Amino acid sequence: MRVLVTGGAGYIGSHTLVELMGQGHEVCVVDSYANGSPEALARVQTLSNGTLEAHEADIRDTDRLTTIARAFAPEAVVHFAGLKAVGESQRQPVEYYDVNITGTLSLLRAMEAAGCPRVIFSSSATVYGEPVYLPYDEAHPTAPTSVYGQTKRMAEQILTDWAAARPEAAVMLLRYFNPVGAHPSGRIGEDPQGVPDNLMPYLAQVATGQRPYLQIWGDDYPTPDGTGIRDYIHVVDLARAHVAALDRAAAVTGAEVYNIGTGRGSSVREMLDAFSRAVGRDLPAQVMPRRPGDIAEMQADATKAATQLRWKAELDVGDMVASIWTWQSANPKGYRT
Ligand code: NAD
Ligand code: UDP
Repeated sequence: MRVLVTGGAGYIGSHTLVELMGQGHEVCVVDSYANGSPEALARVQTLSNGTLEAHEADIRDTDRLTTIARAFAPEAVVHFAGLKAVGESQRQPVEYYDVNITGTLSLLRAMEAAGCPRVIFSSSATVYGEPVYLPYDEAHPTAPTSVYGQTKRMAEQILTDWAAARPEAAVMLLRYFNPVGAHPSGRIGEDPQGVPDNLMPYLAQVATGQRPYLQIWGDDYPTPDGTGIRDYIHVVDLARAHVAALDRAAAVTGAEVYNIGTGRGSSVREMLDAFSRAVGRDLPAQVMPRRPGDIAEMQADATKAATQLRWKAELDVGDMVASIWTWQSANPKGYRT
C-alpha cells in the first residue's frame, strides 16, 4: 500500500517505517522534526535497503499537507505526529490541543482532499485513567487524568465521528501501553531531548553514566515489591501491530479500537534488575517519594488485537533491555552521536 506516515522520524514512527518497508509498503513521511531526526530516516533507509520520500512540514499546515497528500495519493495514513509528554501537557495545554487536535483535523482535511479513506492512529492507554478494573480491556471507561490524555481521547472521538460520516472510511485506534526498546541492530532507538521522563530511557542514561542513579518514584504501592507496574511493549512488536492494523483497515470499514500491550506487567524493580543483568552490573537506584499522578499498576487485556488483528507481542523484557543497551551504548547521545 501507499502509506503516508506523519511523525515518521520519531521513536515509534521510525521503527514502524522499517516494518512497513520490510513488508513492501511504499512510504512517505511528513515530520516537522520538532522531536524527530532526519538521521533516523537515513538509518531507516539503510536498514531497509530502500528509499523513502520525506517532507519537513508541520501537520497543522493544511495547504502544505494537502499538496503532499495529493501528490503521493496515499491509500492509508499512519498518524504518529504529536506531542506526548504528560507533565509538559499540564503546563502547555494550548500547544498540546493545537498540535494533537488541530493537527489531526488538518490531517483529515488533507486526507479528504486526497481521497484517502484509512487511518491508523497512535492513541494511548492513558485514555483509561484510574483503573476501575484490571487488566484494562477496550470497554473500560475512559477518564483521562492529563491534558495529553484528553487530547488522545478527543482525537479518538474526532476520528470515530469522521469514520461514521464516510461509508468507505476505516479508522484503527491503537492504544499503546508502555513502548520501550530499540531495533535489535542498535541503529535506531529512542532519543529523548533533555532529562528523560520515562523509566527506560532514564535507566539507559544511568547505564552509560550520564545520570548518577535511577530515582524510583515510590516503593509503597500495593504491588508485590511496592514499585509501580506497567505493561512494557517492545517497540518492534508495536511497529508490527501497525502493519497488522493496516491489513485490517484494508479489509473493513468503520472505527475500531485496540489495546496494544503484552498483557503482562513488570515492576520498576523488575525492569531495573533486568537492565542490570543486560549491562552486567548492578545499576544504582534510590527510592524517592511517589510521582504525583502516577497509578500503581496497569496492564492491557490484548485479546482483541490477538483475535481481530491477528497480532500478538512476541518479544520479552530480556529483548527490550538488550536492545536498549545495544542502541544506547552505540549512540550514547542518540542521533547526535
Ligand atoms: P516522538 O516524539 O518520538 O515522535 C513524534 C514525531 O512527530 C516526531 O518525529 C516529531 O518531530 C513529530 N511531530 C511533532 N509535532 C509535529 C507537527 N506539528 N507536525 C509534524 N510532525 C510533528 O514520539 P513517539 O514516542 O514516537 O510517539 C508517537 C506517537 O505515539 C505520538 O502521537 C504519541 O503521543 C503516541 N504514543 C507514544 C507513547 C510513548 O510512550 N512513546 C505511548 C502512547 C502513545
Ligand atoms: N519511574 C521511576 N523513575 C523514573 C521514571 C519512571 O520510578 O525516573 C516509574 C514510574 O513511577 C512508573 C514506571 O516507572 O511506575 C513507568 O513510568 P513511565 O514514566 O516510564 O511511564 P508511565 O508512567 O507513563 O506509564
